[in-house]
Amino acid sequence: MPIKILSEELASQIAAGEVVERPSSVVKELIENALDAGADQITILIREAGKRLIEVIDNGAGIPTVELPLALHRHATSKINDAGDLFRVATLGFRGEALASIGSVSQLTLLSRVQKDDLGASIKVEGGEIKKSSRVGIPPGTTVRVEQLFYNVPARLKFLKTDRTEKRHINDVASRYGLANPGVRFKLYQDDELVFQTSGNGSTREVISAIYGLGTARKMIEVIYEDELLGVRGFISPPGLTRSNRREILFYVNGRPIQDPALATALCQAYHTLVMKGRYPLGVIFLEITPGKVDVNVHPTKAEVRFEDKGEIFKAVGKAARRALLANTPVPEISRLGGVDLWAGSPADRSHIQRGVDPDWGMLERTSQGGAFDPAADSQQIPSSLGTPILRLIGQVAATYLIAEGPDGLYLIDQHAAHERVLFEKFLTDKSGNLPSQTLLEAIVVDFSPASSDLVRENLATLRKLSFDVEEFGGGSFKIRAVPALLKGVSPEEILRAAVEDLEVDETPLEKNQEELIIARVCKKAAVKAGQVLSPEEGKQLLLDLEKCQSPRTCPHGRPTMIHLSVGLLEKKFGRTGAI
Ligand code: ADP
Ligand code: MG
Repeated sequence: MPIKILSEELASQIAAGEVVERPSSVVKELIENALDAGADQITILIREAGKRLIEVIDNGAGIPTVELPLALHRHATSKINDAGDLFRVATLGFRGEALASIGSVSQLTLLSRVQKDDLGASIKVEGGEIKKSSRVGIPPGTTVRVEQLFYNVPARLKFLKTDRTEKRHINDVASRYGLANPGVRFKLYQDDELVFQTSGNGSTREVISAIYGLGTARKMIEVIYEDELLGVRGFISPPGLTRSNRREILFYVNGRPIQDPALATALCQAYHTLVMKGRYPLGVIFLEITPGKVDVNVHPTKAEVRFEDKGEIFKAVGKAARRALLANTPVPEISRLGGVDLWAGSPADRSHIQRGVDPDWGMLERTSQGGAFDPAADSQQIPSSLGTPILRLIGQVAATYLIAEGPDGLYLIDQHAAHERVLFEKFLTDKSGNLPSQTLLEAIVVDFSPASSDLVRENLATLRKLSFDVEEFGGGSFKIRAVPALLKGVSPEEILRAAVEDLEVDETPLEKNQEELIIARVCKKAAVKAGQVLSPEEGKQLLLDLEKCQSPRTCPHGRPTMIHLSVGLLEKKFGRTGAI
């Protein structure tokens, strides 16, 4: 084929491939435009996870009627003039690509009016072609309506995730800009339902409350730090408030949300020894860096930036967070209600839970294996198809493994894996409302982020089947009245969070799997931890329960619950084979 210049439409579609990956990318670009136009009210309407409609309404400066068609033109921008501007951009946008790209893969209507004009104008584009323009009476500001996204690129449509996931991305994007712009009133609706709104009164903590709930907002610790190179301010969670992933660690550079795993790591390191492995803090952190010291034009959606002094910036983040944490000396939380016993049952009912070692700290004490012998090499892992032999408990080692004698030698049982298996099977055999449930003395209200509250809502039926009594309390909060009696002694809030956090990551269409997934997560959270000292009675009970399991030899995640050192192997190791 001869070389030829691509048509404007095709070029835009190719650019759209980079800029408009999914509905939330559109939301991001439109919010940025509204912010660049100086709006202090931004309303976002979404239908069908953005596939049917994304509409962003702002009260910003507007676009003069004569410039309206230009706004939809590729590489048309009012934000920079020359290359020099590129290194001091103060606006969120500058590439002049977004509207053209979005317009090439959707049906886009742009309505705008500047304050001084009496009328505004509207222009409609379909697949990049202008179809209609007219004068309209509208309030000052701009509305961008994007309908039938990807209608002309079916491949893109096919690669979209479930509505739930796409909605979550949209909620995340809107939340991120809301957090960075507390002076702007944001409202986000999904299918007519208000997901969140902010007051626009300038308080970041209030935005945190609107998005993560009041309880979280109250606990967050303020960070304020400054050195010659940069300013670091924002909010981070105290060590007692963590998540199972880093999704709620948000960084901004000069007001622009950015993704930089290394920055998140710098924050997490500040919590070293304060939170257990696998748990992550929450953070909303704004870095202010002289524009010349950071290059924002390295990524098509501007999600990544390049720093001149990367190392120094990470150090400053760590230092800022560490100082804030130390200034707010962590007080270990006994329970949300300050040590009140939430459990109606007697203390003796708290079977092998929370003895001696606080479970949150238990993992840190875990003794490493290895040394004299390597269990993986020197022992046999037992095929999982078999049941367990009758075991006699001998003791516990490293507060993590039970030692038992069986008909053919020595068994080491991982107490956490074993307990997970026991709980898992109890749930599976007794579910459908037959599981005894335990009513809390006082109902507990738990706040979730918009994305997680969707998940709780969607799984309410499953949770009820598992004998949770949970109901929606409004505004992303849920009230827990009762939990399965099996989970006695474990924080109901943590259990509920464990059940739904990250769920979409292991997304699976089969409802049954979803249910098992939830059960497995709950059991993981509720099972006795490594590092917890068990009494001989508790150890024995655990072995008895394990014997009754259908698949006692693996935990629900497939790891072994026990390893076996046969008498034969012991004899060999001690050089006894053949000896008298
Ligand atoms: P960029 O934001 O990179 O300049 P866009 O394609 O997003 O490129 O927008 C093109 C131009 O249209 C902007 O430079 C701006 O002048 C105008 N524009 C877009 N959205 C708005 C809005 N909501 N309010 C005012 N002007 C807007
Ligand atoms: Mg833009």
